[in-house]
Amino acid sequence: MHWRQLSPMVHRAFRCRCGRPVFFGNTRCVACEAELGYDSASATVWPLEPGGDEGVWRRHGDHDGALRYRRCANFGSAVACSWLIPLEESARFAQCRSCRLNRTLPDLGQPDNQRLWARVESDKQRLVASLIALGLPVASRTVEDTERGLAFDLLRGTGAAQPVMTGHLDGVITLDVDEADDARREAIREKMDEPYRTVLGHLRHESGHYYWARLVERGAWLAPFRTLFGDERADYGEALRRHHADGPPAGWQGSFVSAYASSHPWEDWAETWAHYLHILDTLDTALSNGLDAARSGLLRDPFGTAVLFRGGPAPRAGDEPPFLALINAWIELTGVLNELSRSMGERDFYPFVLSDAAVTKLHFVHRVMHEAAGKVDA
Ligand SMILES: [Zn+2]
Ligand SMILES: [Zn+2]
Ligand SMILES: [Zn+2]
Repeated sequence: MHWRQLSPMVHRAFRCRCGRPVFFGNTRCVACEAELGYDSASATVWPLEPGGDEGVWRRHGDHDGALRYRRCANFGSAVACSWLIPLEESARFAQCRSCRLNRTLPDLGQPDNQRLWARVESDKQRLVASLIALGLPVASRTVEDTERGLAFDLLRGTGAAQPVMTGHLDGVITLDVDEADDARREAIREKMDEPYRTVLGHLRHESGHYYWARLVERGAWLAPFRTLFGDERADYGEALRRHHADGPPAGWQGSFVSAYASSHPWEDWAETWAHYLHILDTLDTALSNGLDAARSGLLRDPFGTAVLFRGGPAPRAGDEPPFLALINAWIELTGVLNELSRSMGERDFYPFVLSDAAVTKLHFVHRVMHEAAGKVDA
């Protein structure tokens, strides 16, 4: 398949009943005042109409009312959650699939925490919406799958006295909600000399650690993982100490997607996973909105089959060409977007250069992810 025939895997452009465009996170159309809600199963923002009973909604025009919903309990909170809960599911859960992943929230008695929490949730919704659309297992560790589920501890550190370490451990992702404060996050980015630091980036990275444990650690992917990323049994604490003391090895750009990825095989995987999600989501958004970078002529040397990952369980037919289409479309798109950012005096939109070795690792993530999701044509 030529990358110029690529179509979005998940459609990310939505319309109201009145024909106006509406966006992920919207709860009401500004033009016709229709109620809007996000259904994660269909990955769509729907215009709604009353569904008969109090607090029950159905899709606009669905007169049979085959699919009925309730709003998430966080609709009325600082988050103003736009997600819907299918009526049958709402008997068991008051919160949507994204909100019920939360195990701990910061002290919401402090107004500042409400604001930071709301910002984190909107990024978390983007992550969770993608994971569900990709067909990956997403279950709440607190109320759905206490053995293998996922949970979030969203905490507010109080500086050096009581720091919160962002990270993943045994299915629980911890995030310092202070990262949602632009000035503080930017100060850390400068200090750490990172080209890119966002809440969404953190969440995608930490989800990578969670899915490594679920999809790689105990299966047929572990041996090829070690061949490609290295042996994750290397002392993790020592590796991070060395990275923070000495920085990345010279020439890391030839093998890793980011400097931090060079610190340990687990971090390499999590960084690569995060980039794969950056690529999928952003490319889907571009394609859904009719953005076509093909005429730019910025892609001089498209990646070919030499960069594909060849080991691991046998790929299904049709797996490999779409990956190359995806990655080449991404190079083309980010070439244009970086130029646009420079035109506005901003830092590059995607401040990374993908080497052959990094692309091979992205293909490995692609294979693991789509095999887990049972998808053939992704
Ligand atoms: Zn409307
Ligand atoms: Zn919710
Ligand atoms: Zn990590």
